[in-house]
Amino acid sequence: MFLTPSDKFVDVPTFVSHLQCSLEGDRYEPDRLYNLSRAGKPLLVRYDLAALGKTLRKEELAQRPWGMWRYREFLPVRRTENVVSLGEVCTPLVDCPQLAKKLGSENLAIKDEGRLPTGSFKARGLAVAVSMAKELGLNKLAMPTNGNAGAALAAYARRAGMEAYIFCPEDTPEINVREIAAQGAHLQLVKGLIHHCGKLVAEGRDAHGWFDVSTLKEPYRIEGKKTMGLELADQLGWNLPDVIFYPTGGGTGLIGMWKAFDELEEIGWLGPRRPRMIAVQASGCAPLVQAYEQGTEHAAEWQNAHTVAAGIRVPVALGDFLILRAVRESNGFAIAVDDHQILTARDEVAKEEGLLLCPEGAATFAAYQQSLKDGRIKPQESVVLFNCATGLKYPLPAPSG
Ligand SMILES: *Cc1c(COP(=O)(O)O)cnc(C)c1O
Repeated sequence: MFLTPSDKFVDVPTFVSHLQCSLEGDRYEPDRLYNLSRAGKPLLVRYDLAALGKTLRKEELAQRPWGMWRYREFLPVRRTENVVSLGEVCTPLVDCPQLAKKLGSENLAIKDEGRLPTGSFKARGLAVAVSMAKELGLNKLAMPTNGNAGAALAAYARRAGMEAYIFCPEDTPEINVREIAAQGAHLQLVKGLIHHCGKLVAEGRDAHGWFDVSTLKEPYRIEGKKTMGLELADQLGWNLPDVIFYPTGGGTGLIGMWKAFDELEEIGWLGPRRPRMIAVQASGCAPLVQAYEQGTEHAAEWQNAHTVAAGIRVPVALGDFLILRAVRESNGFAIAVDDHQILTARDEVAKEEGLLLCPEGAATFAAYQQSLKDGRIKPQESVVLFNCATGLKYPLPAPSG
């Protein structure tokens, strides 16, 4: 017999102690169903890190297979039988010597998340959210999506035998619409943007018995995305780069990595030094850049959002204050690049390094170039760019002579 992905997992002790409102700090009992906190803000999962640190040894972790479930003690799923997996790999850190040489920079790598199931890092978040949905006895999950999250929800929900109800803007990339439908989800195209889709989920939730798995409206997708930070530190021998460029929409990944670094410091596996966190947005939808520049704690809704980088076309982010805090505390910044820069960057990385980035990933390279030029990043700083989906999911230019 073949082993299925979930057969590889063995029981480990788990350490969730409670959940906590990310704004007010009040406590919630673990192992129950939650969307937002009483204050209407994201809930964060808290662990008994003292116990975790005493139980788990780096040497033991090093013996395990690579991939996000290697960090089971840092994840909320209690029972191994509830792990829903499609074979999540450890994504490579690909160095970029040609690009580095061209830019005169010393240390540049791209973490290529396009290798994950469903071709994007949304798989990390949805693998954990759907596993927790299974653990908590849910079977109908709903979400608004710009494409990749919906594709990942569709896939993991089918894997777990659950129904997925997915709402996309009508101009969502065709490949995403089709992959969502092909993976058995109930799909509705909506005239409007992702936050309009979110309203439809909220309105239909009670009538249809859906559980809302919108970005940051349930506590577990962020735990899945957190594994990017754990994996990055692990790949670098429990070190971190000087700078991380992250294409930021709802910001789950950035908030998740920031949380991962805190947890690793708490158990003594990392020191207090943090990478500078750079939130990259498209100039056609840059609410966080505007808030960063105006020095505000929250971001105003962005009007008439448009960009080729669909994954970061998010006019309103529920976790805006958490993203902005991480950016500021880390001495990072938020930066916008336009669609022309994004597509030029995609072509350049493909031609120089043989890596086909998604537009959102390409935006991080464009932002890095711009930050080197304006002096906000020094050539000697080590840099990791996040490519969050495979470039093959997006329309490509016609071949030219
Ligand atoms: C969702 C998505 C993003 C944004 O991720 P967040 O963590 O929600 O900010 C970036 N790139 C791609 C390809 C995505 O699918």
